[in-house]
Amino acid sequence: MDLIYQDVSLYVHIPFCIQRCSYCDFYFVTTKHGHDEFVDALCLEITQVSRKFPDISLSTVYFGGGTPSRLSPCAITRILSHIHACFDAKLTCEITLEANPEDVTAAGLEKLKHAGITRISLGVQSFRDEELHFMNRCHNSEQAAQACKLINEAEFDRWSLDLIFGVPGASTQEWQENLHRAVETGATHISTYSLTVEPHTPLHKQVTRGMIKPASGNQTAEQFQIAIEFLESIGFEHYEVSSFAHPNHRSRHNMRYWNHTNYLGVGPSAHSFWWQDGRAVRWENIRSLRSYNETVIKGESPANSRETLSDDTLVREKIMLALRTSEGLDLEHLWKNYGFDLLKHKQKELKAMRLQGLLIQEGALIRLTKKGLHVCDRLTTKLWPG
Ligand code: SF4
Repeated sequence: MDLIYQDVSLYVHIPFCIQRCSYCDFYFVTTKHGHDEFVDALCLEITQVSRKFPDISLSTVYFGGGTPSRLSPCAITRILSHIHACFDAKLTCEITLEANPEDVTAAGLEKLKHAGITRISLGVQSFRDEELHFMNRCHNSEQAAQACKLINEAEFDRWSLDLIFGVPGASTQEWQENLHRAVETGATHISTYSLTVEPHTPLHKQVTRGMIKPASGNQTAEQFQIAIEFLESIGFEHYEVSSFAHPNHRSRHNMRYWNHTNYLGVGPSAHSFWWQDGRAVRWENIRSLRSYNETVIKGESPANSRETLSDDTLVREKIMLALRTSEGLDLEHLWKNYGFDLLKHKQKELKAMRLQGLLIQEGALIRLTKKGLHVCDRLTTKLWPG
C-alpha cells in the first residue's frame, strides 16, 4: 500500500481574527499585535518543512484561518515569496486566500494579485444583517456586497463565497434570498455549510442555556435541498457535499483533501497528512500562537501531536472522503491501494442503501444520491471495516 506523492498541497494557518464568531471552534486569537513576529516564525517553519521534504513540488497553497486577510498584503507577499524560495511551485499552482468582507479593499486586492494569489475565498456567510449579527460576524450585508464587487473589479476570475444555512429563525424564503444574492455576485464557487453547534463555543452556551433553539433537522435538510436544486439549475456543479462550482472552477486544494493526497500544514494548529512507503502519519501543530512562535524560533518543530494511521483508519478516511464527492468511490482503487474489498465485506449494507435510493453503483464505482448526501456521515460509517 505505497502511495508516493511528490505533488503536494500546502496549508498556511493565519490565526488572527477581529472577534469570535459565535459558532467558531477554529484556532485563532483576537490580538491586534504580533503579526510581524508571527510572520517571522511562520517563514522559519516553512524553511524547516522544506528541508524535511526537499523533493516535493506544490500544486496548491491555501491561506486559511483565522482570517488571513487580517495580515497586510505586504505580509502575505513576504510569506508567498518565502514559499516560492523554499519550494518548487508549479506555474499552474492554485493559491487561495480566505478573506473577510471587512478587510477587502481595491488596493489590497491588487497587491494580493500581484503577490500571486490566484483565488479568493470570501467569508460572507449571509447577506442578511440579522443573521450576521446573530453569528457575531464583523461585517454587515453592505460590506459583503461591496467586497464581492471589488473582487470582480480586481478580476479574480476564480473566487468563492461561503454561506451558512440552518440559522435559527431564518425562513426558507430568507435562505432563498441569500442564495440569489450569492449567485448575483458572480462568484464562480459557492460553499454552503449548515450551522453546527460545536462544543466550547458561545453558540453552544446559548443553546445549552435555552436562549436559542437550533433549527430542526428537517429545516436544515430542506434548506440544503433548496441550495442543491437552485444552484444546479443555474449551472453550478454540486461536486462535494458542501461545494458548488462553475465548470472548471472547483477548489483544487480541497479536492486534494477529498482525494486523500498528501498535504503539509504550517502555522499554529495546522494539520499535515503524509503517506509514504507504507506509513501514513497525521500531525497537528501547537494550538497556541505564543508557544508556536517560541518553539519555531528555537529551531524546533511545532508539531506536537503525531498519529500513525492504521490500515483500517486509512480505509475509513478514504470511504468517508470519496463519498462526499460527486466522483464517488472507486472500489477497485480501494482494493488495490487500501487492501479493502468493500463489495465482499459490505454487500448487505450496499444493497440496503441502493434499495433505499441512497447510493448508486455503476460497475466498480459507488456514489451517494442527493438523498444519500443528506446523511453522508451516517452512511459512510456503515461501510467502514470492522
Ligand atoms: S472569522 Fe472565521 S476563524 Fe475567525 S472567529 Fe469567525 S469563523 Fe472563526
